[in-house]
Amino acid sequence: MNGQARPTLLDRYGSFLPLTGATPRLSLGEGFTPLVHAERLGAAWSLSNLWLKLEGCNPTGSFKDRGMVVAVARAVEAGARSIVCASTGNTSASAAAYGAMAGLEVLVVLPRGKIAAGKLLQAQAAGATVLAVDGNFDAALRVVRELAAQEAHPVTLVNSVNPHRIAGQTTAAFEVCDDLGRAPDVLAIPVGNAGNISAYWAGFRAYRGAGRIDSLPRLWGFQAQGAAPIVLGHPVEQPETVATAIRIGNPASWATAVAARDESGGLIEAVSDEQILAAYRDAARLAGVFCEPASAASLAGVRALRAAGRLDPDALVVCVLTGHGLKDPDTAAGLAAPAVEAEATVPSVMAALGWQERR
Ligand SMILES: *Cc1c(COP(=O)(O)O)cnc(C)c1O
Repeated sequence: MNGQARPTLLDRYGSFLPLTGATPRLSLGEGFTPLVHAERLGAAWSLSNLWLKLEGCNPTGSFKDRGMVVAVARAVEAGARSIVCASTGNTSASAAAYGAMAGLEVLVVLPRGKIAAGKLLQAQAAGATVLAVDGNFDAALRVVRELAAQEAHPVTLVNSVNPHRIAGQTTAAFEVCDDLGRAPDVLAIPVGNAGNISAYWAGFRAYRGAGRIDSLPRLWGFQAQGAAPIVLGHPVEQPETVATAIRIGNPASWATAVAARDESGGLIEAVSDEQILAAYRDAARLAGVFCEPASAASLAGVRALRAAGRLDPDALVVCVLTGHGLKDPDTAAGLAAPAVEAEATVPSVMAALGWQERR
């Protein structure tokens, strides 16, 4: 009995996950996220079959919950009392929530001043201990890896270097295939620490191995131009981008991401911050989907490759929108039109709108 009225992600895909009979079936309602056909957005970009996987609809607003539920459940099973992660924001929000649910101490190490406001508040609201360090994500990850290896205070690492995280994240690939009744032609995804692209590829292969799908998609990964180590072929010392969730200079899952790219016949390319923000606006205005800037890297890449004639207009394309737009209100506010001011009367509102009174 999992205390939930509906099936949970661990129930649905348990046979594909590293669970034992003793693993607690935790759930905050993760997974089961919508896959929507973006007709207007697709038409604007000359794509007839563009689909959006809305991972912002997960309980803490990003796909991180899929892996976190498995990592925390296995940590609880192993008797852990404390978990730790480095984060560009969403991993900490997710660890804080699942850790709170399971009654664990949660420590999160974040690059000072580089975390979107909503994500930081989520970790704080859930009672996590937040350590802000001078240094980027890569430095924070080095610290927590060593912290998890010391013995004075046992603590379980829940970054995506924890294999249970990647295993849980494969479930998004299963859902895409179950919803479409097949694998897409192209799956486009932002790449930061590169765990998610690795997880999707593992998921598609597992599903084909189980006979659930006949074909595999090409995986198209997109990094931000100022944080594109895989594209450049070397680590980036000072990664910079408006898309803070992918502001990573030395991805932990670099090798598996390159394998996913090559085995799928796909690509990993860079998109500029301007391209990311243009796609971010279009997603909100033409598809009604408010995602976070990093998520829009997948859209920006698809748009650019379609415009360059490198993508068939009828291809079945799924863009993974990894996180919710409300997490980063500052970026959104920077692009928002100001409110039109008026008094609370019909003539004043009509005048403010420039509507003429009919005589
Ligand atoms: C974590 C995250 C990413 C990057 O995923 P990786 O597995 O690190 O490549 C992209 N977008 C959002 C919103 C994220 O939270």
